[in-house]
Amino acid sequence: MPEFSQETLPQAQAALSATLTQWQTGDVPDDAALPPSVAFGLSCALAECDARLPLAADYRKAPLCSGDPDELFALLQGMPGDKVAKIKVGLYEAVRDGMIVNVLLEALPDLTLRLDANRSWTRVKADGFARYVAPELRSRIAFLEEPCKTREESRAFARDTGIAIAWDESLREADFRVQAEPGVSAIIIKPTLVGSLARCEQLVREAHQAGLTAVVSSSIESSLGLTQLARIAQ
Ligand SMILES: [Mg+2]
Repeated sequence: MPEFSQETLPQAQAALSATLTQWQTGDVPDDAALPPSVAFGLSCALAECDARLPLAADYRKAPLCSGDPDELFALLQGMPGDKVAKIKVGLYEAVRDGMIVNVLLEALPDLTLRLDANRSWTRVKADGFARYVAPELRSRIAFLEEPCKTREESRAFARDTGIAIAWDESLREADFRVQAEPGVSAIIIKPTLVGSLARCEQLVREAHQAGLTAVVSSSIESSLGLTQLARIAQ
């Protein structure tokens, strides 16, 4: 996926066709040597052959809101069960994001929010956001993905504001380790960018051992990819 994956489409195609040729001779592909998108797709296909992916899964998704509270409001009011929504923050003014989050949490007492800032804020901007979210509402932010440009700033933000954070971009950095940290509540696993099912399962295990929520997520997958992701999450 351009702008998400490290590998290009021709590189992925070449790796896939070489691996399939090898697989036809009876070899088990070495996931670790493959580009993540290929390792993910191929391991899903093999899991399909072995009937290892469940058909029954929760295909609902957390509705995504980019800034229009009225729209999200309408969507959520008809939603059965737990009301969870995701908002991309950091696209507009941080203060405005804070106001929207506050309004939504105040208006819908059973709403939980997942927020994603994609590392777009300086610490000052992140604080501008937090200032507008009433302290008593902050616990209903399940997590805010990567608020700041650096992990250190994000950790300090979580510590100082009481708003839980989640790691997403960090998972793809060489020095990242899954561990329990104050203020961190989840890791976001995007299998297309992470790699094989085995690698994803390992991350889920590490997350659970550290007391973290593991969220299986997508970038811009097709309906096929999204379906596989729902089944993996199950
Ligand atoms: Mg994210």
